[in-house]
Amino acid sequence: MYEIFADMHVHIGRAENGKPIKITAARTLNFANIAKECADRKGIQVVGIIDCASPYVIQDIENFLKQGQAYELKDGGIIYKDKVCILLGSEVETTEEGRNGKKGCAHNLCFFPCLKDIKEFSKEMSKHIKNITLSTQKSDISGYELIDIVEKYNGILIPAHIFTPYKSYYGNCTDRIKNVFKEKFDKIYAVELGLSSDTYLADTISELENKTFLTNSDAHSLPKIAREYNKMLVNDISFKEIVKAIKREEGRKVLVNYGLDPKLGKYHRTYCDECNTSIQTKDPVEKCPNCGSTKVTFGVFDRIEKIKDKELTKSPEFRPPYVYQIPLSFIPGIGGKTIEKLLTNFNTEMNILHKLSQDDIEACIGKKLASTIIKARQGQMQIVSGGGGIYREVFIRL
Ligand SMILES: [Zn+2]
Ligand SMILES: [Zn+2]
Repeated sequence: MYEIFADMHVHIGRAENGKPIKITAARTLNFANIAKECADRKGIQVVGIIDCASPYVIQDIENFLKQGQAYELKDGGIIYKDKVCILLGSEVETTEEGRNGKKGCAHNLCFFPCLKDIKEFSKEMSKHIKNITLSTQKSDISGYELIDIVEKYNGILIPAHIFTPYKSYYGNCTDRIKNVFKEKFDKIYAVELGLSSDTYLADTISELENKTFLTNSDAHSLPKIAREYNKMLVNDISFKEIVKAIKREEGRKVLVNYGLDPKLGKYHRTYCDECNTSIQTKDPVEKCPNCGSTKVTFGVFDRIEKIKDKELTKSPEFRPPYVYQIPLSFIPGIGGKTIEKLLTNFNTEMNILHKLSQDDIEACIGKKLASTIIKARQGQMQIVSGGGGIYREVFIRL
């Protein structure tokens, strides 16, 4: 068995025919470019592309395979340059009963082994989604029904960014995901933490005790791929192996979750939409202490404070460490030119973040910048919390 890096949540901006898939995502984010970026620059071995149920993207994948650039595996997944396994996924928005009597919606990552499976899934979902060509469109079904459709086509369902305020199970639907999936809750093997939370926050909710945690980028542009990712132990790169790792079967598992410090996430603390301030009170409040407005976006931290049912004494035995990771592009002083120089010399971002010595980095970009990168790698940073959809900055502590 060997170690690999996996980022299972990457969007597509445009199809090759120029049609928009995810409107807010970069134009350069297409199937072929994602494969290339992961193989040549990021050093990611497994990438989940989660807009593959769009018929335009399916067309792109078929062309990609026809041109001989990649091939499908019997165990599921598409292999590119013998370096990267692409998982075919679809992010689906489900309609749920919301909290406070409002309507809720949640995002779900659905992965399928083969192109023919996701094609069938796409066909069936077009009955539940108005515009199937676009990314993460609202469906008229609940997660409770979606999971059956996913399994019918040999797929697996993973609740996405489970705490984010607008589009997630805990964020605006329910205090307990089990209330949604009921007797099918055991078929949920993993949840995605999202950028504004981490293992320590999530392990205060006891229903998550036996779920595997995933840390993914939710990238809307090429550089954002792998701003969060997982290190896994597998026997091969394929759909089947990744599912085993998620289920923790036959020694396969997630070894480390690499993620942003949740304070960097754009929804970490409650934010007042009226006076535009991040509310950093010790306990969660539903009213802005500054201006008294109730027009506040509840932060992930605050939401977890409200719904947790235990203090974190210890994470479950199997839980891997969560390592706060600052992507190169987030490090103050490390600009595009420096990153290019590093990549030219050391191939991939994963090499730079995990393997190289300080001396190697110094030889390439000089003492000062090298020591900044090393400090970032060691987690020696000061961070101001994000809120209300604004990412916060990193300061390197001296
Ligand atoms: Zn989402
Ligand atoms: Zn997404």
